[in-house]
Amino acid sequence: MINQERLVHTFLDLVRIDSPSGHEEAIGRELAARLAALGLSGERDTSGNVFGWLEGKQAAGDWLLLCAHMDTVGQDQGITPVLGEGVIRSDGSTILGADDKSGVAVILEVLQVLQEQGLPHRPLEVLFTVEEETHMGRPGRIDLARLRAREGLVLDSGGPIGSFVISAPSQDKLTATVHGRAAHAGSEPEKGINAIRVAAEAIAAMPLGRIDEETVANIGFIQGGTVTNVVPELVTIKGMARSRDDAKLDRQTAAMVQALEEAAARHGATLDIQTERPYHTYRVAGDAPLRRRIEAAARRLGLEPRPTASGGGSDANIFHRAGIESVPLSTGMADVHTKREHIAIADMVACARLLLEIVRW
Ligand SMILES: [Zn+2]
Repeated sequence: MINQERLVHTFLDLVRIDSPSGHEEAIGRELAARLAALGLSGERDTSGNVFGWLEGKQAAGDWLLLCAHMDTVGQDQGITPVLGEGVIRSDGSTILGADDKSGVAVILEVLQVLQEQGLPHRPLEVLFTVEEETHMGRPGRIDLARLRAREGLVLDSGGPIGSFVISAPSQDKLTATVHGRAAHAGSEPEKGINAIRVAAEAIAAMPLGRIDEETVANIGFIQGGTVTNVVPELVTIKGMARSRDDAKLDRQTAAMVQALEEAAARHGATLDIQTERPYHTYRVAGDAPLRRRIEAAARRLGLEPRPTASGGGSDANIFHRAGIESVPLSTGMADVHTKREHIAIADMVACARLLLEIVRW
C-alpha cells in the first residue's frame, strides 16, 4: 500500500526546501498545507511547530503521537539530492537532510495511505518540530499542552529498519569563563595570570571522551587571548557530558567543574561556570504497550525488532519528561550530520510499511 514513488517524491521535495534550524518558516508553511490537504486540522504554535490531528472515521484506541523535526543540522542550504543505485545522497557539498525529512516524508505517506484506503487506525496526532538540532531542551520550545497523546513515535533515528530507541541519555551543558590577569608578556609576565594555561590544565585534567558504556564527555569549544605579547586575561570553554544514568552524569559534570576549580586555584584565576541539563534520560520498559506494539508489527512484516540504547537525545526525551512515553524509530538515515549522509529508498519504504502496521488498528 505504501507508494514508493510518491514517498521518494515527497522526500526529494522536502529536502529541496531550505530549513536550517531557526529558518523553518517555508517548510512549516509547506507542511501545514500538506496536512490540511490530507484533511488534518493543522495548526502552528508560536514557535512554528506544526500540529495536526487525524481522528478519522475508522479510528479506535487512544491518541498516538507521530513526530519528526523539520529543521536540518548546521547552515547548509541549496541541498541537491542525487539518486543512484537505490540510495539518495547529497551532491557531496552539503548534508542531505534525511535527518529528519525522511521522518517527515514517512509520516505524510502513511497519513495519505490511511486516508485513501480508509483503513481503521489509532487516532493520530502529528507534530513537526522546529529547532530540534539546536534548542531541543529549551523550555517552551514546543507547546506541549496542545498534545493529547500519552504515547508517541519519533521518526528520527538510524540503524536497520526495526531498530527503535528504548533509552537515551540526559545531557549536561557546561560553559566556563576563566578570568586571569592581563600583563605585558615581554616586560612583566609575572604580573599576569595566563587564562589559556589555566584552561589548558583544567581540560587536560578532565575525564573526557568515552567514560563508560553509557557516559561520554567532550569539550567542543575554546576561545580566548588576544595577541602573543599579552598574557591572556580571558578564556571561554564549552562542553557537554551525557549519560543514561543521572548519578553518573552528576559525577562526571562535577569532575569537570572540579578540574576547572583546581586549575584556577593553582594560578589565582577566577571562574564563571554555568551548567544546565536541557534534557533528561528515559527508559522504556520491556512490557510497555507501545514497545510490544512496535515489536509485534515488526514481526508481522518479517522484520527483526531491535531495541537499542542511544547516545543521542531526540524529541522523545522531551515527550517522556511531559509524561508521553515515546520511542524513536529508525527511518534508515545514515551518516547524519555529515556530507556523506544518505538513505536507501528500500529502507525508507520499509520504515513507512512498519509505521503503517503500527498505527493500523
Ligand atoms: Zn534528527
